[in-house]
Amino acid sequence: MAIKLINRCIYCGELTSVRRRICPECMERIRRSRLDSFLDFCPVCGFPLVDRLYSCPNCVRHPGMKTRLMLSYKDPFARSFLELYKFDGRKEFSRFFADLLSECIEAGEVALPVPSSNASLKKRGWDQMDRISKDLKCPVARLLVNNYTGSLQSKEMNEKERIEFSRDKFAVDLSPLRPCGKDGSRGKDGCLGARSRRAEAQVSGLSGKQSVNFDTPLVVMDDVFTTGSTMFAAYSVLVASGFSNVRTMALYGEF
Ligand SMILES: [Zn+2]
Ligand SMILES: [Zn+2]
Repeated sequence: MAIKLINRCIYCGELTSVRRRICPECMERIRRSRLDSFLDFCPVCGFPLVDRLYSCPNCVRHPGMKTRLMLSYKDPFARSFLELYKFDGRKEFSRFFADLLSECIEAGEVALPVPSSNASLKKRGWDQMDRISKDLKCPVARLLVNNYTGSLQSKEMNEKERIEFSRDKFAVDLSPLRPCGKDGSRGKDGCLGARSRRAEAQVSGLSGKQSVNFDTPLVVMDDVFTTGSTMFAAYSVLVASGFSNVRTMALYGEF
């Protein structure tokens, strides 16, 4: 007797084929909550626009930062996927989110997950973007360090707090980067200059070891883009550290 392999949808529990984690009905509902199914995009930065007649808020607030957002955070169905994953610890949703992000990653790009703050690590015990990054179909480099020690969410801050938070929230860990000169030697002072174009870091990826240098295209990834101040903080610190090709991507935007 032939055994028919079946599986259950991780969202609704309905039977589905073994290769699918999400059943076709749930996938169809997700497709309808994709921002690219009902919004226009800024031709300069890629940010979703409700109306192209108005200037792009992302270009105004975060000049230079290209941003790709995937799902509607205002859509209760789409949002519940993240809530199950992040707050209920349903880690099997990680692959679903990784597939969504992987779709928009171009060849040669390296992903940089935005690390959780110490406060949320303590609360949840795990880092949601780091978990997703393990399922991405592209190389991943963990160069961002979250320095934030407070417990406020960016949306709970006023403008002044937000600016301070943005300035100090992240640092770039350049220690994995090493010079790639023929003899592998370091600079005269024995340390690696942040702007040395010859530096490279080993990153983990599907194809084994791959390297990052200051010209490697980097994609910073976070779960929710609310005001964008967290993303812009990460983007700015990377640009200030000498990386010349940085764009950003988030699973959800507040649309
Ligand atoms: Zn389902
Ligand atoms: Zn724009």
